[in-house]
Amino acid sequence: MHVRKSLLFHNNLPWVKKKGGMFDVTMGSYDGAEVCELVGLFILHQISQQIDGIDVGLYRDDGLAVMKDPTGPELDFTRKKLHEVFKKNGLSIEIKCGLKVVDYLDVTFDLNKGIFKPYIKPNNSPLYVNAKSNHPPHVLKQIPISISKRISNISSNEEVFNKSAPYYTNALKQAGHANGISYQPDSGNSRKNRPRKIIWFVPPYSKSVSINVARTFLNIVRKHFPANGKYSKLYNKNNVKASYSCMPNIARVIKSHNSKILNGEDQATPPGCNCQKNRRADCPLGGACTVENIVYSGTVTTPTDQEGKVYLGASGTPFKVRFGNHKKAFNHKGYRTDTKLSGHIWDIKESGESRYKVKWSVVKQTHGYNRVSKTCDLCLNEKLEILNYKDRDKLLNSRSEVISKCRHFNKYLLKEYK
Ligand SMILES: [Zn+2]
Ligand SMILES: [Zn+2]
Repeated sequence: MHVRKSLLFHNNLPWVKKKGGMFDVTMGSYDGAEVCELVGLFILHQISQQIDGIDVGLYRDDGLAVMKDPTGPELDFTRKKLHEVFKKNGLSIEIKCGLKVVDYLDVTFDLNKGIFKPYIKPNNSPLYVNAKSNHPPHVLKQIPISISKRISNISSNEEVFNKSAPYYTNALKQAGHANGISYQPDSGNSRKNRPRKIIWFVPPYSKSVSINVARTFLNIVRKHFPANGKYSKLYNKNNVKASYSCMPNIARVIKSHNSKILNGEDQATPPGCNCQKNRRADCPLGGACTVENIVYSGTVTTPTDQEGKVYLGASGTPFKVRFGNHKKAFNHKGYRTDTKLSGHIWDIKESGESRYKVKWSVVKQTHGYNRVSKTCDLCLNEKLEILNYKDRDKLLNSRSEVISKCRHFNKYLLKEYK
């Protein structure tokens, strides 16, 4: 259980509860469900070893146990045994026993009548995605269907279903859906098809876009990979598909806005220069070489090429570090393929020219990878600058850099923790 201790940090300071002790918020942690499942399996095993005549099932932290025709003392004995097992593990449990009608998760089991039906918690009305919200049409269309399926599955027959259906239909109507739910008996056909390798194109969806983006995309595929073409086997309507992804909801927009403001305060200190005193005049960024999260440009000129070539890059670390890596690649041939820039420098060197100059400058200051919104402004801006660069012939960056993956989130991986 020691691995589940939770610590709270804010601005690199640990926080402690007033009454002492740690924060107990692990229920909502990313792996909370997995841990719950592991502990559950462990306890289930112990119960099956130590208690006879009982069938137990578990979902997360809710358990359901069945005993066949127990006598009063038998029930009581089993209850005590269960308490014992949990106590030994340092846990406590709340047991209701001797029930013939049980509400378990979202189902009510009724042994008296031999049926099961949907269980609705009192004062709990379901809230569904509004029909007018900015979601792809197929997502909205699927909502009543999936609810129908779920409610049908947890109703033992159509009569039971019809009794609870109006409740859900009302909730759907309130969310603006025209269709209610209808009974769908289990067809028993759960055979799954072999999953195919499908290339998905998943642009974000917005109602205000009038172009049918997915259709346009599929038309392009059809046009450029015709049925009789060389690549039609690899790219055709069966394995290239389009779907829509949802845009971040309001909660996420607010979250990212908040963190933007909070992080902005942290970075209030202006960047400085950590070059050696006698070399300050040669500082690559004119006295601001420790600046972080920038898109920068390096312009290479030679006596014969005064116009020069331009390389655009992004630096999440202080620029000085990035600069050091560039310099290393200019001087050691082994790093020649590090960047397009170092490749270009080596091309110049091998042509017999050694009087090249690189002038560095900041193109844009942005924010680095954001763990909350999982977006990287730095990469986006770098790509934007590359795409928008006016003089393509001068640019050293290759087009493929525009589709590269963000590497700035790597430093937040656990293996990088020191
Ligand atoms: Zn400097
Ligand atoms: Zn990035």
